[in-house]
Amino acid sequence: MALIVQKYGGTSVGSPDRIKNVARRVAKFKAQGHDIVVVVSAMSGETNRLIALAKEVQANPDPRELDVIVSTGEQVTIGLLAMALKDAGIEAKSYTGSQVKILTDSFHTKARIQSIDDAPMRADLNAGRVVIVAGFQGVDPEGNITTLGRGGSDTSGVALAAALKADECQIYTDVDGVYTTDPRVVPEAKKLKTITFEEMLEMASLGSKVLQIRSVEFAGKYNVKLRVLSSFQEEGEGTLITFEEDPNMEKPVVSGIAFNRDEARINVTGVPDKPGIAYQILGPIADANIDVDMIIQNVGKDGTTDFSFTVPKGEYARTMKVLDGVKAHIGAREVDGDDKTCKVSIVGVGMRSHVGVASTMFRTLAEEGINIQMISTSEIKISVIVDEKYLELAVRVLHKAFGLDQAK
Ligand code: ASP
Ligand code: MG
Repeated sequence: MALIVQKYGGTSVGSPDRIKNVARRVAKFKAQGHDIVVVVSAMSGETNRLIALAKEVQANPDPRELDVIVSTGEQVTIGLLAMALKDAGIEAKSYTGSQVKILTDSFHTKARIQSIDDAPMRADLNAGRVVIVAGFQGVDPEGNITTLGRGGSDTSGVALAAALKADECQIYTDVDGVYTTDPRVVPEAKKLKTITFEEMLEMASLGSKVLQIRSVEFAGKYNVKLRVLSSFQEEGEGTLITFEEDPNMEKPVVSGIAFNRDEARINVTGVPDKPGIAYQILGPIADANIDVDMIIQNVGKDGTTDFSFTVPKGEYARTMKVLDGVKAHIGAREVDGDDKTCKVSIVGVGMRSHVGVASTMFRTLAEEGINIQMISTSEIKISVIVDEKYLELAVRVLHKAFGLDQAK
C-alpha cells in the first residue's frame, strides 16, 4: 500500500464525463489499497475564460482580485470530483488551497509555496477518505488567496507529495509522457521511458510545456518520485523522472529538443566596460519584475562592450521602456532588439562525456541557412536564439541530426 498524489490537468477534467472518468481511475487505485490525494486543475479553458472576464472589467486586472477570480476554476473542479467519487461509493473530501493551508508568499499571480499543513489531509486519509485539493492556489499569511502562476497545479501536486512524503507523484495529462520533442512539430518524436531531473528541468525551462518548471525544481529538491502519464489511457508507464542516468549505451547523446517561442532579444551596445554594468542594466529590469532568460556579455574592446539578453515577448515593450532610462544613465551607445525570435535547445546529460555535440548542432542549422543570433550553453544543454520563422525547421532537422527519430 502506497501514498500516491495524483494530479489531473485541465483536459483530464475538461467535462463532467471526464471528471467521472477521473473518479473511476481514482477508485481503481483506492481499491488496490492505496491512499490517494488528488490535485486538480480548472476545467480546460476555464482559467483563460476567467482571465478574459476579469480583463473585460479592468484592462489591467488588480492582482489580488485576479487571484480571487481565477482560483474559482479549481474550486469548481474539486467539488465536482468529490461528488463524482461519492457517487461511486468512495468517501472523499475537497479542500481549497487555503483550507488545507498551502501557505504562500504574497506575490499575487506568481506566489511561491512556503509550507503546507499536512495534518488535516492525514486525518482524512487515516479515515479512509480520498483527499481532493485545488491546484494552483494557496493563501498568504494575511489570508489573501494567491495563485502560483500558469500551470501551477503541477507544483501544487509535487509540493503536496513532498509535504506528505508520498511514495509517488503522478501527473496525469493529455499526453502519455515526456517526448523527445513536441510531436506536433515533429511527428517522429518518441516517448521517453525515463528522463533525469536535470534534463527535465532544462526541458521544462526551455519551453517543453509538459510540466511547470517549478514543479520539477520542487521534485528534485525534495526527492519526489515523479511520473508523467496520460489520463486517457488505461495502461502505460508514462515517463519516470529519475535521479540516475539511463545506463543504456545505445541511448542518443541528446535526449530531447526543447523550444520556446516566447523569447524577445534585446541588445545594449557600446556600454562602458567596467564593474557594475551588468547590474546597472539588469537591476532595473529585475525591479520591474521582468523575467530575463538568456544573458550574454561580449568580451570588452576599446573600453566598451555589448550586452544581450532575452525576455518574454509580452515584456518586450516594457523592457525597452525601462532601458530608455538606463541607457542615458550608463552611457550606452544603442539599445535595440527583436521580438520575432525564438529559442531552440538540445538537452542531454550525455553531452558531458561527448565532444562534437555543439558543432553538429551548428552545422545542422547552417546547412538549412538558419542564422544563429545568440548561443548559450550549460553542461547539459545548448540553446540558440533564431528567427521565429525557422522554429519548426530547426527543431525538425536537429531531431533528425541527433538520431532522435530512431530513438527507442
Ligand atoms: N488552471 C491553471 C492554469 O490554467 C493552473 C493549472 O492548470 O495548472 O494555468
Ligand atoms: Mg498544465
